[in-house]
Amino acid sequence: MSAYLDYNATTPLDPRVCRATKPWATERFGNASSRDHRFGWDAAEAVSEARSSVADALGAGPVNTLLVSSATEALNTVVRSYVGYDRWAQKTIVTCATEHEAVLAPCRGLCALTGVGLHIVAVDDAGHVDLEQLARLLRASPGALVAFMAANNETGTVHPVREIASLVHAADGLFLCDTTQAFGRCAIDVSSDGIDFATVSAHKIHGPQGVGALVAGRSLTDELQPLILGGGQEQGLRGGTPNVAGIVGLGEACRIARDELDQSTSRIGVLRDRLEDGIVAQTKDVWINGDRRRRLCNTSNIGFRGVDARTLIRDMHDVAVSTRSACSSGSAGPSHVLKAIGLSDEDAYSCVRFSLGRFTTQDEIDYTIGKVVASAHKLVRAKSVRR
Ligand code: PLP
Repeated sequence: MSAYLDYNATTPLDPRVCRATKPWATERFGNASSRDHRFGWDAAEAVSEARSSVADALGAGPVNTLLVSSATEALNTVVRSYVGYDRWAQKTIVTCATEHEAVLAPCRGLCALTGVGLHIVAVDDAGHVDLEQLARLLRASPGALVAFMAANNETGTVHPVREIASLVHAADGLFLCDTTQAFGRCAIDVSSDGIDFATVSAHKIHGPQGVGALVAGRSLTDELQPLILGGGQEQGLRGGTPNVAGIVGLGEACRIARDELDQSTSRIGVLRDRLEDGIVAQTKDVWINGDRRRRLCNTSNIGFRGVDARTLIRDMHDVAVSTRSACSSGSAGPSHVLKAIGLSDEDAYSCVRFSLGRFTTQDEIDYTIGKVVASAHKLVRAKSVRR
């Protein structure tokens, strides 16, 4: 037996997505930009239907939905567009210490290059920003680009998106909300939530890797500039032949995520609680990171005091979990998210992220509890013998 509890890193393709995608990679293989024959027309039609499905799932219009390669590309497109190409423009970006590197890296890099101001707001021990402090900061920086995620990928803490949106708009700012982990696990509606730009990554919602979307809440596509110049695809905002099969998969994954949101979140929430209760009941000196109430249904980040999390994970070997986001998992330092919520380096190195998904079973949960408890006990015993 083995268990895969790393759904925040990537998810397996849903068989329905696989079925929808396959014909577009085999017999119906046209280039959606080919205007002269049926293969091209059919591919363009498939892309258009998929775009509508993505837009519908997030409460947006298809014309405001750009199809891109990843959430990282979507986030970079907005940051790059806001910063613009004039050096030393009087602009400010406000973001949060627990954002994903797909936001922090372009903000740091482009602000350093252009002289645009950058404020990285601290969080409390549950991962929340102080909204009054944020309101004061935004009043002092009118017109800022404000990049706050809807839900954190490491702890699952869910931010008060609507409240943040109204603070941003009261200060004439633009709200970029990284909804990459939240979409499919919480209801996201860009118009009623007040989100100016939201992001989707197909591989986080049982779609294929290498495809995603940038979804604008209002008619904001004219605020954007292309990261990739080429043949004028995506309203001139992203050059390159569209990945038709991937886009069809993204559309189907979004449709399923929206239609099955309620049933899947309640089922997954029950399994997540079973996992936490099982581990907490049988292991001493453990704690749960993030906001216990306002948290993604699928995510649990557990600290095992005195245990090195990487050693614990290696000891379990057939249980797939992680210490932090997949793209930072090769880096040596402690997780910036766990540091931002106030953990010491030692405690941050002791935390394991468990993330569940559509295909997680109760057997996998029970197997994981057994493996975690046995490995944690073994490592604590080995440490006390060494002392
Ligand atoms: N934002 C968040 C919150 C994420 O968790 C991730 C991926 O882990 C990304 C952005 C980047 O997504 P992608 O893999 O589509 O580039």
